[in-house]
Amino acid sequence: MSDYYQTLGLSKGASKDEIKKAYRKLAVKYHPDKNPDDNDAEKKFKEISEAYEILSDDQKRQMYDQYGKDAFSGGMGGGGPQGFSSMEDALRTFMGAFGGGGRGGDSIFDSIFGFEAGGQGGSHPRQGMSKKASVTISFEEAATGIDKDLSISLNSTCKTCDGSGAKSASDIKTCSTCGGAGQVHQTRGFFSMSTTCPQCHGAGKMITNPCGTCHGTGKEKRKERVSIHIPAGIDDGMRIKMGGYGDAGENGGPAGDLYVYVRVEPHEFFERDGDDLHLNVPISFSEAALGVKKEIPTINGSAVKLTVPEGTQTGKVLRIRGEGMPNVHGHGKGDLLVHLTVETPVSLSSEQKKLLEEFQALENPKNSPKKKSFFEKLKVFF
Ligand SMILES: [Zn+2]
Ligand SMILES: [Zn+2]
Repeated sequence: MSDYYQTLGLSKGASKDEIKKAYRKLAVKYHPDKNPDDNDAEKKFKEISEAYEILSDDQKRQMYDQYGKDAFSGGMGGGGPQGFSSMEDALRTFMGAFGGGGRGGDSIFDSIFGFEAGGQGGSHPRQGMSKKASVTISFEEAATGIDKDLSISLNSTCKTCDGSGAKSASDIKTCSTCGGAGQVHQTRGFFSMSTTCPQCHGAGKMITNPCGTCHGTGKEKRKERVSIHIPAGIDDGMRIKMGGYGDAGENGGPAGDLYVYVRVEPHEFFERDGDDLHLNVPISFSEAALGVKKEIPTINGSAVKLTVPEGTQTGKVLRIRGEGMPNVHGHGKGDLLVHLTVETPVSLSSEQKKLLEEFQALENPKNSPKKKSFFEKLKVFF
């Protein structure tokens, strides 16, 4: 194994800051999450973690400078040397070096995403939390598209302190426990472990006089009105992303996003299937028999003329092109499918009955072709 300084690409006189910077850069590059099943990367990751563990600790570094690696291979102290045989140790070092990683359920890579080398302790920028909201619109509004105002409550940057959490700039002091490093070293025998500073939780800074508005959090709960454009053709359950309308970011990180879930109320008559619409239309017995031109309502409020041909049966579906829902991505419109149901006349007057009886007397098998073939086929069984 090479020299610890070489491993991190540094010279012997490197400052603490340079060591940390170099380690962080390499650790992100060789992290096993980024290099799955890569043995070389794994080996490298362990090596740089070991080098960092020693060089980032004043006491261990001094020993190393004086005695080299031999300083850690003897049987000194109670615990004895462990070296970095396990990935677990290397990952622990990694967590320590990125201070506060793993908070809030984010993976370590989420928390270092957007990280700028040289940042202090746990104060690297983080994107704010994303927010969810929902809005309910009518079926007609989904067909035309609509602008809606939403009231959302979110954590935005405190306007009084501009997010610092302190009453004034002079109320921010370097943490006395960790000296601004964000980490403390707990010495156990000869070895010491780095942990996140319990005083400043890795920030390296302390607020001596918190802002009166946000009580030191740097955040403010605020109600905000957001105007959202809902495009024509949106369907029930779709969501719209409003970039930057979530909670404020931390340490100068970007704000989170707002996801607006759209609920579309069902229509009394129209039913949606993709971009097509279905409509059930009852027609009378005589209309079905003689044929008729019908005004059919469409979703955009107008009407189109539909020709119902002579001799139409129940269940017949007629397609009216381009009278469906607009496609939400702007690819034209769907069709309107008209499902016809022939309604048997009820509440007949005596005159109507008489006419129908006359009609019945004139009926022939050709008037009811289905009925004719049905009973002919059935005869086989009798
Ligand atoms: Zn501290
Ligand atoms: Zn404030």
